[in-house]
Amino acid sequence: MSLLERSDIKYLPGVGPKRAELLASELHIHTFHDMLYYFPFRYVDRSTIFKIADLQGEMPSIQLKGHFVNFVTQGEGAKRRLVALFSDGTGTVEVVWFNRIKTIAQTYRTGTEYILFGKPTLFKNSYSIIHPEVDIYKPEMPPTGLVGVYNLTEKLRNRSFTSRTMQKLEATLLDNIAVERLPESLPPSIIAKRGLMPLGESLRNLHQPADIPSLQRAQYRQKYEELFFLELDILKNIKGQSRKLPGLPFAHVGTLFNGFYHNYLPFPLTNAQKRVIREIRHDTGSGHQMNRLLQGDVGSGKTIVAFLSMLLALDNGYQACIMAPTEILATQHYESISQMAAGIGVQVALLTGSTRKRERDCIHAALQDGSLGILIGTHALIEDVVRFRNLGLAVIDEQHRFGVAQRAKLWRKNVTPPHVLVMTATPIPRTLAMTVYGDLDVSVIDELPPGRKPVTTRLRYEKDRREMYHFVATELRKGRQAYIVYPLIEENEKLDLKALEEGYEFVREAFRGCKVTYVHGRMKPAEKEAHMQQFVSGEARILVATTVIEVGVNVPNASVMVIENAERFGLSQLHQLRGRVGRGADQSYCILMSKYELSRDTRHRLEVMTQTNDGFVVAEEDMKLRGPGDMEGTQQSGIAFNLRIANLATDGLIVQAARDDAQDVLDNDPELSTPAGQRLNTELKLRFARTQHWGLIS
Ligand code: ADP
Ligand code: MG
Repeated sequence: MSLLERSDIKYLPGVGPKRAELLASELHIHTFHDMLYYFPFRYVDRSTIFKIADLQGEMPSIQLKGHFVNFVTQGEGAKRRLVALFSDGTGTVEVVWFNRIKTIAQTYRTGTEYILFGKPTLFKNSYSIIHPEVDIYKPEMPPTGLVGVYNLTEKLRNRSFTSRTMQKLEATLLDNIAVERLPESLPPSIIAKRGLMPLGESLRNLHQPADIPSLQRAQYRQKYEELFFLELDILKNIKGQSRKLPGLPFAHVGTLFNGFYHNYLPFPLTNAQKRVIREIRHDTGSGHQMNRLLQGDVGSGKTIVAFLSMLLALDNGYQACIMAPTEILATQHYESISQMAAGIGVQVALLTGSTRKRERDCIHAALQDGSLGILIGTHALIEDVVRFRNLGLAVIDEQHRFGVAQRAKLWRKNVTPPHVLVMTATPIPRTLAMTVYGDLDVSVIDELPPGRKPVTTRLRYEKDRREMYHFVATELRKGRQAYIVYPLIEENEKLDLKALEEGYEFVREAFRGCKVTYVHGRMKPAEKEAHMQQFVSGEARILVATTVIEVGVNVPNASVMVIENAERFGLSQLHQLRGRVGRGADQSYCILMSKYELSRDTRHRLEVMTQTNDGFVVAEEDMKLRGPGDMEGTQQSGIAFNLRIANLATDGLIVQAARDDAQDVLDNDPELSTPAGQRLNTELKLRFARTQHWGLIS
């Protein structure tokens, strides 16, 4: 372990035991090393000073120069705050403090010229800034250059620990440890090949950028380094295990598969479906355990692929199961699969949380004596009491909702782990798949069944509401059905439910003479089912709903989806919702209703929806906007996705370079046993010691 790793942060001048405790609990900074690698999350150019009169729309953090006109304390108790008027001659902004009111009121004076740094927020036509950084303006030393902004927590800020405090501490640290003399962490050949900035220089520049080009080189160096060690770790582990696990041999294609394929196939398969089935047949016949991720956009036809794969298992004397994230989805799988299975006389059962005890007991028994071939269910399926006689294939639908531990449980349902097929409608961008699923094989259904028309998507505002209803009415007159979706989030559940209920009443008024029904997550299952059924049967023409319809529901006659408060949905969620329409032969529409004032990111999100129907494009954009750490699926991957500086969404080229180089290193030194390899190994241990091992997840 290096000196940096061992040096407790409390010994850094300016820290001390109290701050050390805060740094540890709030930012996980324990050592000099942690501190050194705590990089700014963005940089601001302190050479520009804005005029208040020039503020407009959504603003980033900016600088203003001027003076305080007055200070007033407002409110009582928890609402107490200090409000100041700040003027620069071109206009005024309100400055608000909620904490340390007394100190602040004593420190800042009216009349003195200050530089304010903070993010102006627009409220009722005027701007205010909450808890800005405030400095006395010194004409002889005007603020210049690039300054790093550090991510801090509420608690730190309340203790007067600001981004500025961090800057000062980092400056002390850089000098204290003589950063430029730190030993290099990457092999010299790589430094030369990629033209990387030396380690110390890059660390200095990340905290104290000399200029933009130096900052960019420093960032590149650190991103590269971070990704290099991540890829090295992944590749080293893949080599070490997994791929060679023995698997149950599905040696032949038998009467069930062939009988169904030749006599009962409800439609010709698309080429993409055929290709994936071939891939699965190859894997399951190879003698190794299959771990395959099947990506396919909503409506691309993953279910039939799963069903045919299950028949393969049955043909070879094994059982199969499908696990779905919700009861509605499990039920829908059960219905379509038992229908398909009926012709060839295969038994299928459904097991969910609401399966009655008697039936459950029957299922348990039939699973153990082997008379039940296919089990479909929710989480209920992985409980320990559920034992198979001989589970050969486990299919997991909508993988992102299941955690690693749950997948591991499925593995243990047989002495030899079953083959695993994970299906997802959230396409994972390539760079991410490459890294997260280093040991999963990926199949893609990149072709929709014939006859589907892309959904036309439009962005509309409150002022267009009438026109929107008019449009929905036109579609209804053509005999179609419509969804109207409302957001519902837990933190805001009461208000959201109210909005849905009001919306429902409103829609009933607007569409008199036409049956409208509704569903939401807080209804009793039986009632929900009944309402849903009204819509599925076509009796109800409009379904007002929350996102419970996001997965599963299949009503081909529904050709319109209106999404209320679309700005509150994430991109992939919008895409999933939209996948509910466009399932029949008719032209379908998705109307995003949004408020007019939107942040740049939100507007971009909605615009992406209007521009593309391609799930992969949507996923790429989503990842750029949210960062991969927030992508569904990555949290459970077990990999340390709290990358410090690299961004898997935007740094695809660096990922590729780092992966190639890591592969080269391992090709020449598979065990990392040469002196250079040992140094890399030490670095790996240092970096990944605290992270859970991800190797066996899939
Ligand atoms: P998802 O991939 O979203 O799970 P599904 O398997 O539910 O998609 O299929 C969506 C719809 O498309 C279903 O109604 C299914 O019967 C139909 N479908 C699937 N494959 C084909 C095909 N090759 N030709 C025509 N219809 C198909
Ligand atoms: Mg599906």
